[in-house]
Amino acid sequence: MERVLVTGAAGFLGSHLCERFIKEGFRVEAMDNLITGDLNNLSALMDHPNFSFHKHDVTEFINIEGDLDHILHFASPASPIDYLKIPIQTLKVGSLGIHNCLGLAKDKGARVTIASTSEIYGDPEVHPQHEEYFGHVNTIGPRGVYDEAKRFQESITMAYHRYHGLETRIVRIFNTYGPRMRLNDGRVLPAFIGQALRGEDLTVFGTGSQTRSFCYVDDLIEGIYRLHFSDETRPVNIGNPDEITIGDFAEEIIALTGTDQQVVYRDLPENDPKQRQPDITRAKAVLGWKPTVDRAEGLQRTYAYFKTLTKEELYKSEHKDFTDFRKN
Ligand code: UDP
Repeated sequence: MERVLVTGAAGFLGSHLCERFIKEGFRVEAMDNLITGDLNNLSALMDHPNFSFHKHDVTEFINIEGDLDHILHFASPASPIDYLKIPIQTLKVGSLGIHNCLGLAKDKGARVTIASTSEIYGDPEVHPQHEEYFGHVNTIGPRGVYDEAKRFQESITMAYHRYHGLETRIVRIFNTYGPRMRLNDGRVLPAFIGQALRGEDLTVFGTGSQTRSFCYVDDLIEGIYRLHFSDETRPVNIGNPDEITIGDFAEEIIALTGTDQQVVYRDLPENDPKQRQPDITRAKAVLGWKPTVDRAEGLQRTYAYFKTLTKEELYKSEHKDFTDFRKN
């Protein structure tokens, strides 16, 4: 049985990846320091005979006994509010964390897929964003801690590939949504759905003319799985090109939830990208992949999940308290 290590396993994407690899018959070693992840995301897997959870911070040396065939490096704070609150952890996981993962992969002869992001394109001047675009990032802006950590991740991954001949894959993930997003992680979809469920107005940042393109999580996981087992060592965008303004997205959420909430406008965060849409030509050509779940269907499924949350979860403090982790 082949063995896979998933870092960031208790997060939104990590937990879906663990499920997929278990379903495909792998032995899964799940690792997370639980700063932004939540063990509840893995509750369905905890008793599975092929699944183990390791509470560990990947910025510290990673010790895995025995053979290891695959690593999926998905550990990182990933929402703008998270990485503003824990900027140094964000930089550490994107630098020290990836270095430990690549060292482990070299030692074990494992293949590595790293989670990169559309954020490496920054506030893009090329639209839609294709993989050859170098990006437009403010290194010292508030989002720089995430963007630059992810850019460094790509560089060190390619260096290990070129210098050590390591089998590496790089997925550039665009906005993704679905069950198990953290309600209070600050991202637009859980923010809007949470507000609708609590009967609050929906907070659109700026004028709402900025665009995003949202991919349903099952489609994303399928793309990552195909990439990992493909021969493609260049970065590959995975996302849904169906682009929408945030203002229109708020209206869609109001229609979806059947509430009569108003839209209220708040300041646009610094360096908030004005437009974002993946060019998925490469994914289509080399992976035979394209998204299959449209936004209407994906939003229905996601809303069904959020409706299962308890009142207590719905009203839990606005945002996660990271005070305990500051010392790191
Ligand atoms: N946004 C918003 N209201 C919110 C949360 C986010 O209008 O309550 C906007 C945000 O400014 C950005 C877009 O929605 O333009 C997507 O934000 P998110 O944090 O989900 O992800 P990003 O794509 O910016 O990383």
